[in-house]
Amino acid sequence: MLRSTISGNIMSASQQLDKLIKEIKLFIRYAVPESEIAEACALVDRYRNHRRILNLLREYYVALPDAREEAVIRITELVQRQGVALFVLTTTSTAHLYAVSVDGAVWLGEYLGELDPEILALWGFTDQEELSNICVPTTDLEDYVGGAKGKRDECPACGVEEGEYHFLGCLVEVCPWCEGQLSKCNCRFEQLEVDAVDNEEQLERFLDLLTAKGRIPFQRHQAPFYPGTSGGLDREDEKES
Ligand SMILES: [Zn+2]
Ligand SMILES: [Zn+2]
Repeated sequence: MLRSTISGNIMSASQQLDKLIKEIKLFIRYAVPESEIAEACALVDRYRNHRRILNLLREYYVALPDAREEAVIRITELVQRQGVALFVLTTTSTAHLYAVSVDGAVWLGEYLGELDPEILALWGFTDQEELSNICVPTTDLEDYVGGAKGKRDECPACGVEEGEYHFLGCLVEVCPWCEGQLSKCNCRFEQLEVDAVDNEEQLERFLDLLTAKGRIPFQRHQAPFYPGTSGGLDREDEKES
C-alpha cells in the first residue's frame, strides 16, 4: 500500500539499530588493542537505544582521529542547541570534541582545543572563552545519561530528543500543512502531486518540500497516535463530507 512506504521505515528502526551496533563492534575489533575490546563493546551496549550516540561511536571507530587506536571510555554532552549537540568523547589517553545531530557526527578536534568562530556560534558562544567556561578537566567529565534519566524527553516512537526532528516516518511527527499525523495524512500526495509514493526519489523530494515548509520538531506534549484507535483518515473524510 501507498502509506506503508513511509511507515515501513520506522517499523525496522530497532533492526537498523541492531545492524549499526554490529557494525560498530566489527570496527572496534579492528581499531583497538585486544585488551580494550571488551570495555569498548560494553560502552556500545550501554547506548544501544541511542541512535545519535551510536552514530557518534561509529564515526569515531571508522575515522579514528589522530590515528590513535583507543577505546572510547566515556561520552559526555556539553551543550545542545537546535538539534546540534556538542559531545566529548573520552578515550584511554585523550578526549575529542564532536558536533552531533540526528544526521550524524562530525569530529571538531581535541577537547579543550581551539574551535573556529563559526563552529562556536552553532551553540551561541561568542568566543573560545565562553566555551572554556563550561569545560571541566577531562577526568571530571560526566557520563551522558540520555533522555530517560536526563534533562530532556525522547520521542517514544523514534527516540529523538525534545527539539529535534523525528526520523522520517515516525508516527509522532506532526504534519506542518494539516497539523495531523504526518505518517497518515494525505499531504504528501498533494504536495508531490502524485497518487502514490513508492520510491526513494519521491521520499527525498517530499523531505525537501517538508524541510522548506518547516518541520515540526519533537515536543514532550506530542504523543503517538496509535493506528486503529483514532478515527482513521477514511472515516474522518466521511464525517467531513
Ligand atoms: Zn519521533
Ligand atoms: Zn498533513
